[in-house]
Amino acid sequence: MTAHIQFLASDSLKGRYPGTSENKMVVNYLESEFQKNNITPQLQEFNAVLKRDSSTVKTWNIIGFIEGNDPRLKDEIIVLGAHYDHLGVKDGQIYNDADDNASGTAALLEIAERVSVNRKSLKRSVLFIAFGAEEQGLLGSSYFVNHPSFSLKHIKLMINMDMVGHLNEQQQLYMGGCRNLSRRVSVNAALGKTK
Ligand SMILES: [Zn+2]
Repeated sequence: MTAHIQFLASDSLKGRYPGTSENKMVVNYLESEFQKNNITPQLQEFNAVLKRDSSTVKTWNIIGFIEGNDPRLKDEIIVLGAHYDHLGVKDGQIYNDADDNASGTAALLEIAERVSVNRKSLKRSVLFIAFGAEEQGLLGSSYFVNHPSFSLKHIKLMINMDMVGHLNEQQQLYMGGCRNLSRRVSVNAALGKTK
C-alpha cells in the first residue's frame, strides 16, 4: 500500500492531471501492476474536456477482469473501482492528494492482487477499473457505462473506493450508498457477514 501511495502521490507525478505525461505515467504504472498480478489490462481511451480551460485531452480507464468459476454465477460481475487522477498543479502548488485518490487506487491494486491469487475460489466474476478524469466531472466512469464491452445487466454490485486513507472520528471506515443495496445484502454487510 505504502509503495503505491508514495509513487502515486509523489511530486514527480504532479497531481496526476489528465492530458499530462505524468497522467500517462500513472496509466503505465497501473497497466504493469495489473500485469504483475496476472490480470490482462485493457486500456479504454477517451477524450476528457477539462474544467480548467475547456480543452480536450486524451486519457484512459484501466480495466482488468477475472472470470469466476461457477457456471451460472460467473455471469454476475462485481465491479471494484477507484479513480487515479487528481487536480494537477494550481498556482504553483502540486495537488498530490495521497487520500484523494492514491489511497483508493492503492487499495484497488492490493485487492486485485489478493483476488488474483485466489481466483480459483471465485464464483462470480470481478472487474477492476481505475477511472480517469473523475475530478473533471466523473468522466471516466461515465465513459465506461456509455461504452461497455458487455451488457451492464451483468453487474450485480459496484464498490467505488474514494479517500479510504483514514477513518472517521468514530474510528470507522465509512461506506456510502448502502440504502441502494437490497435489505438482506445491507444487513449482512453491516454485520460483516459474507453469506
Ligand atoms: Zn476522489
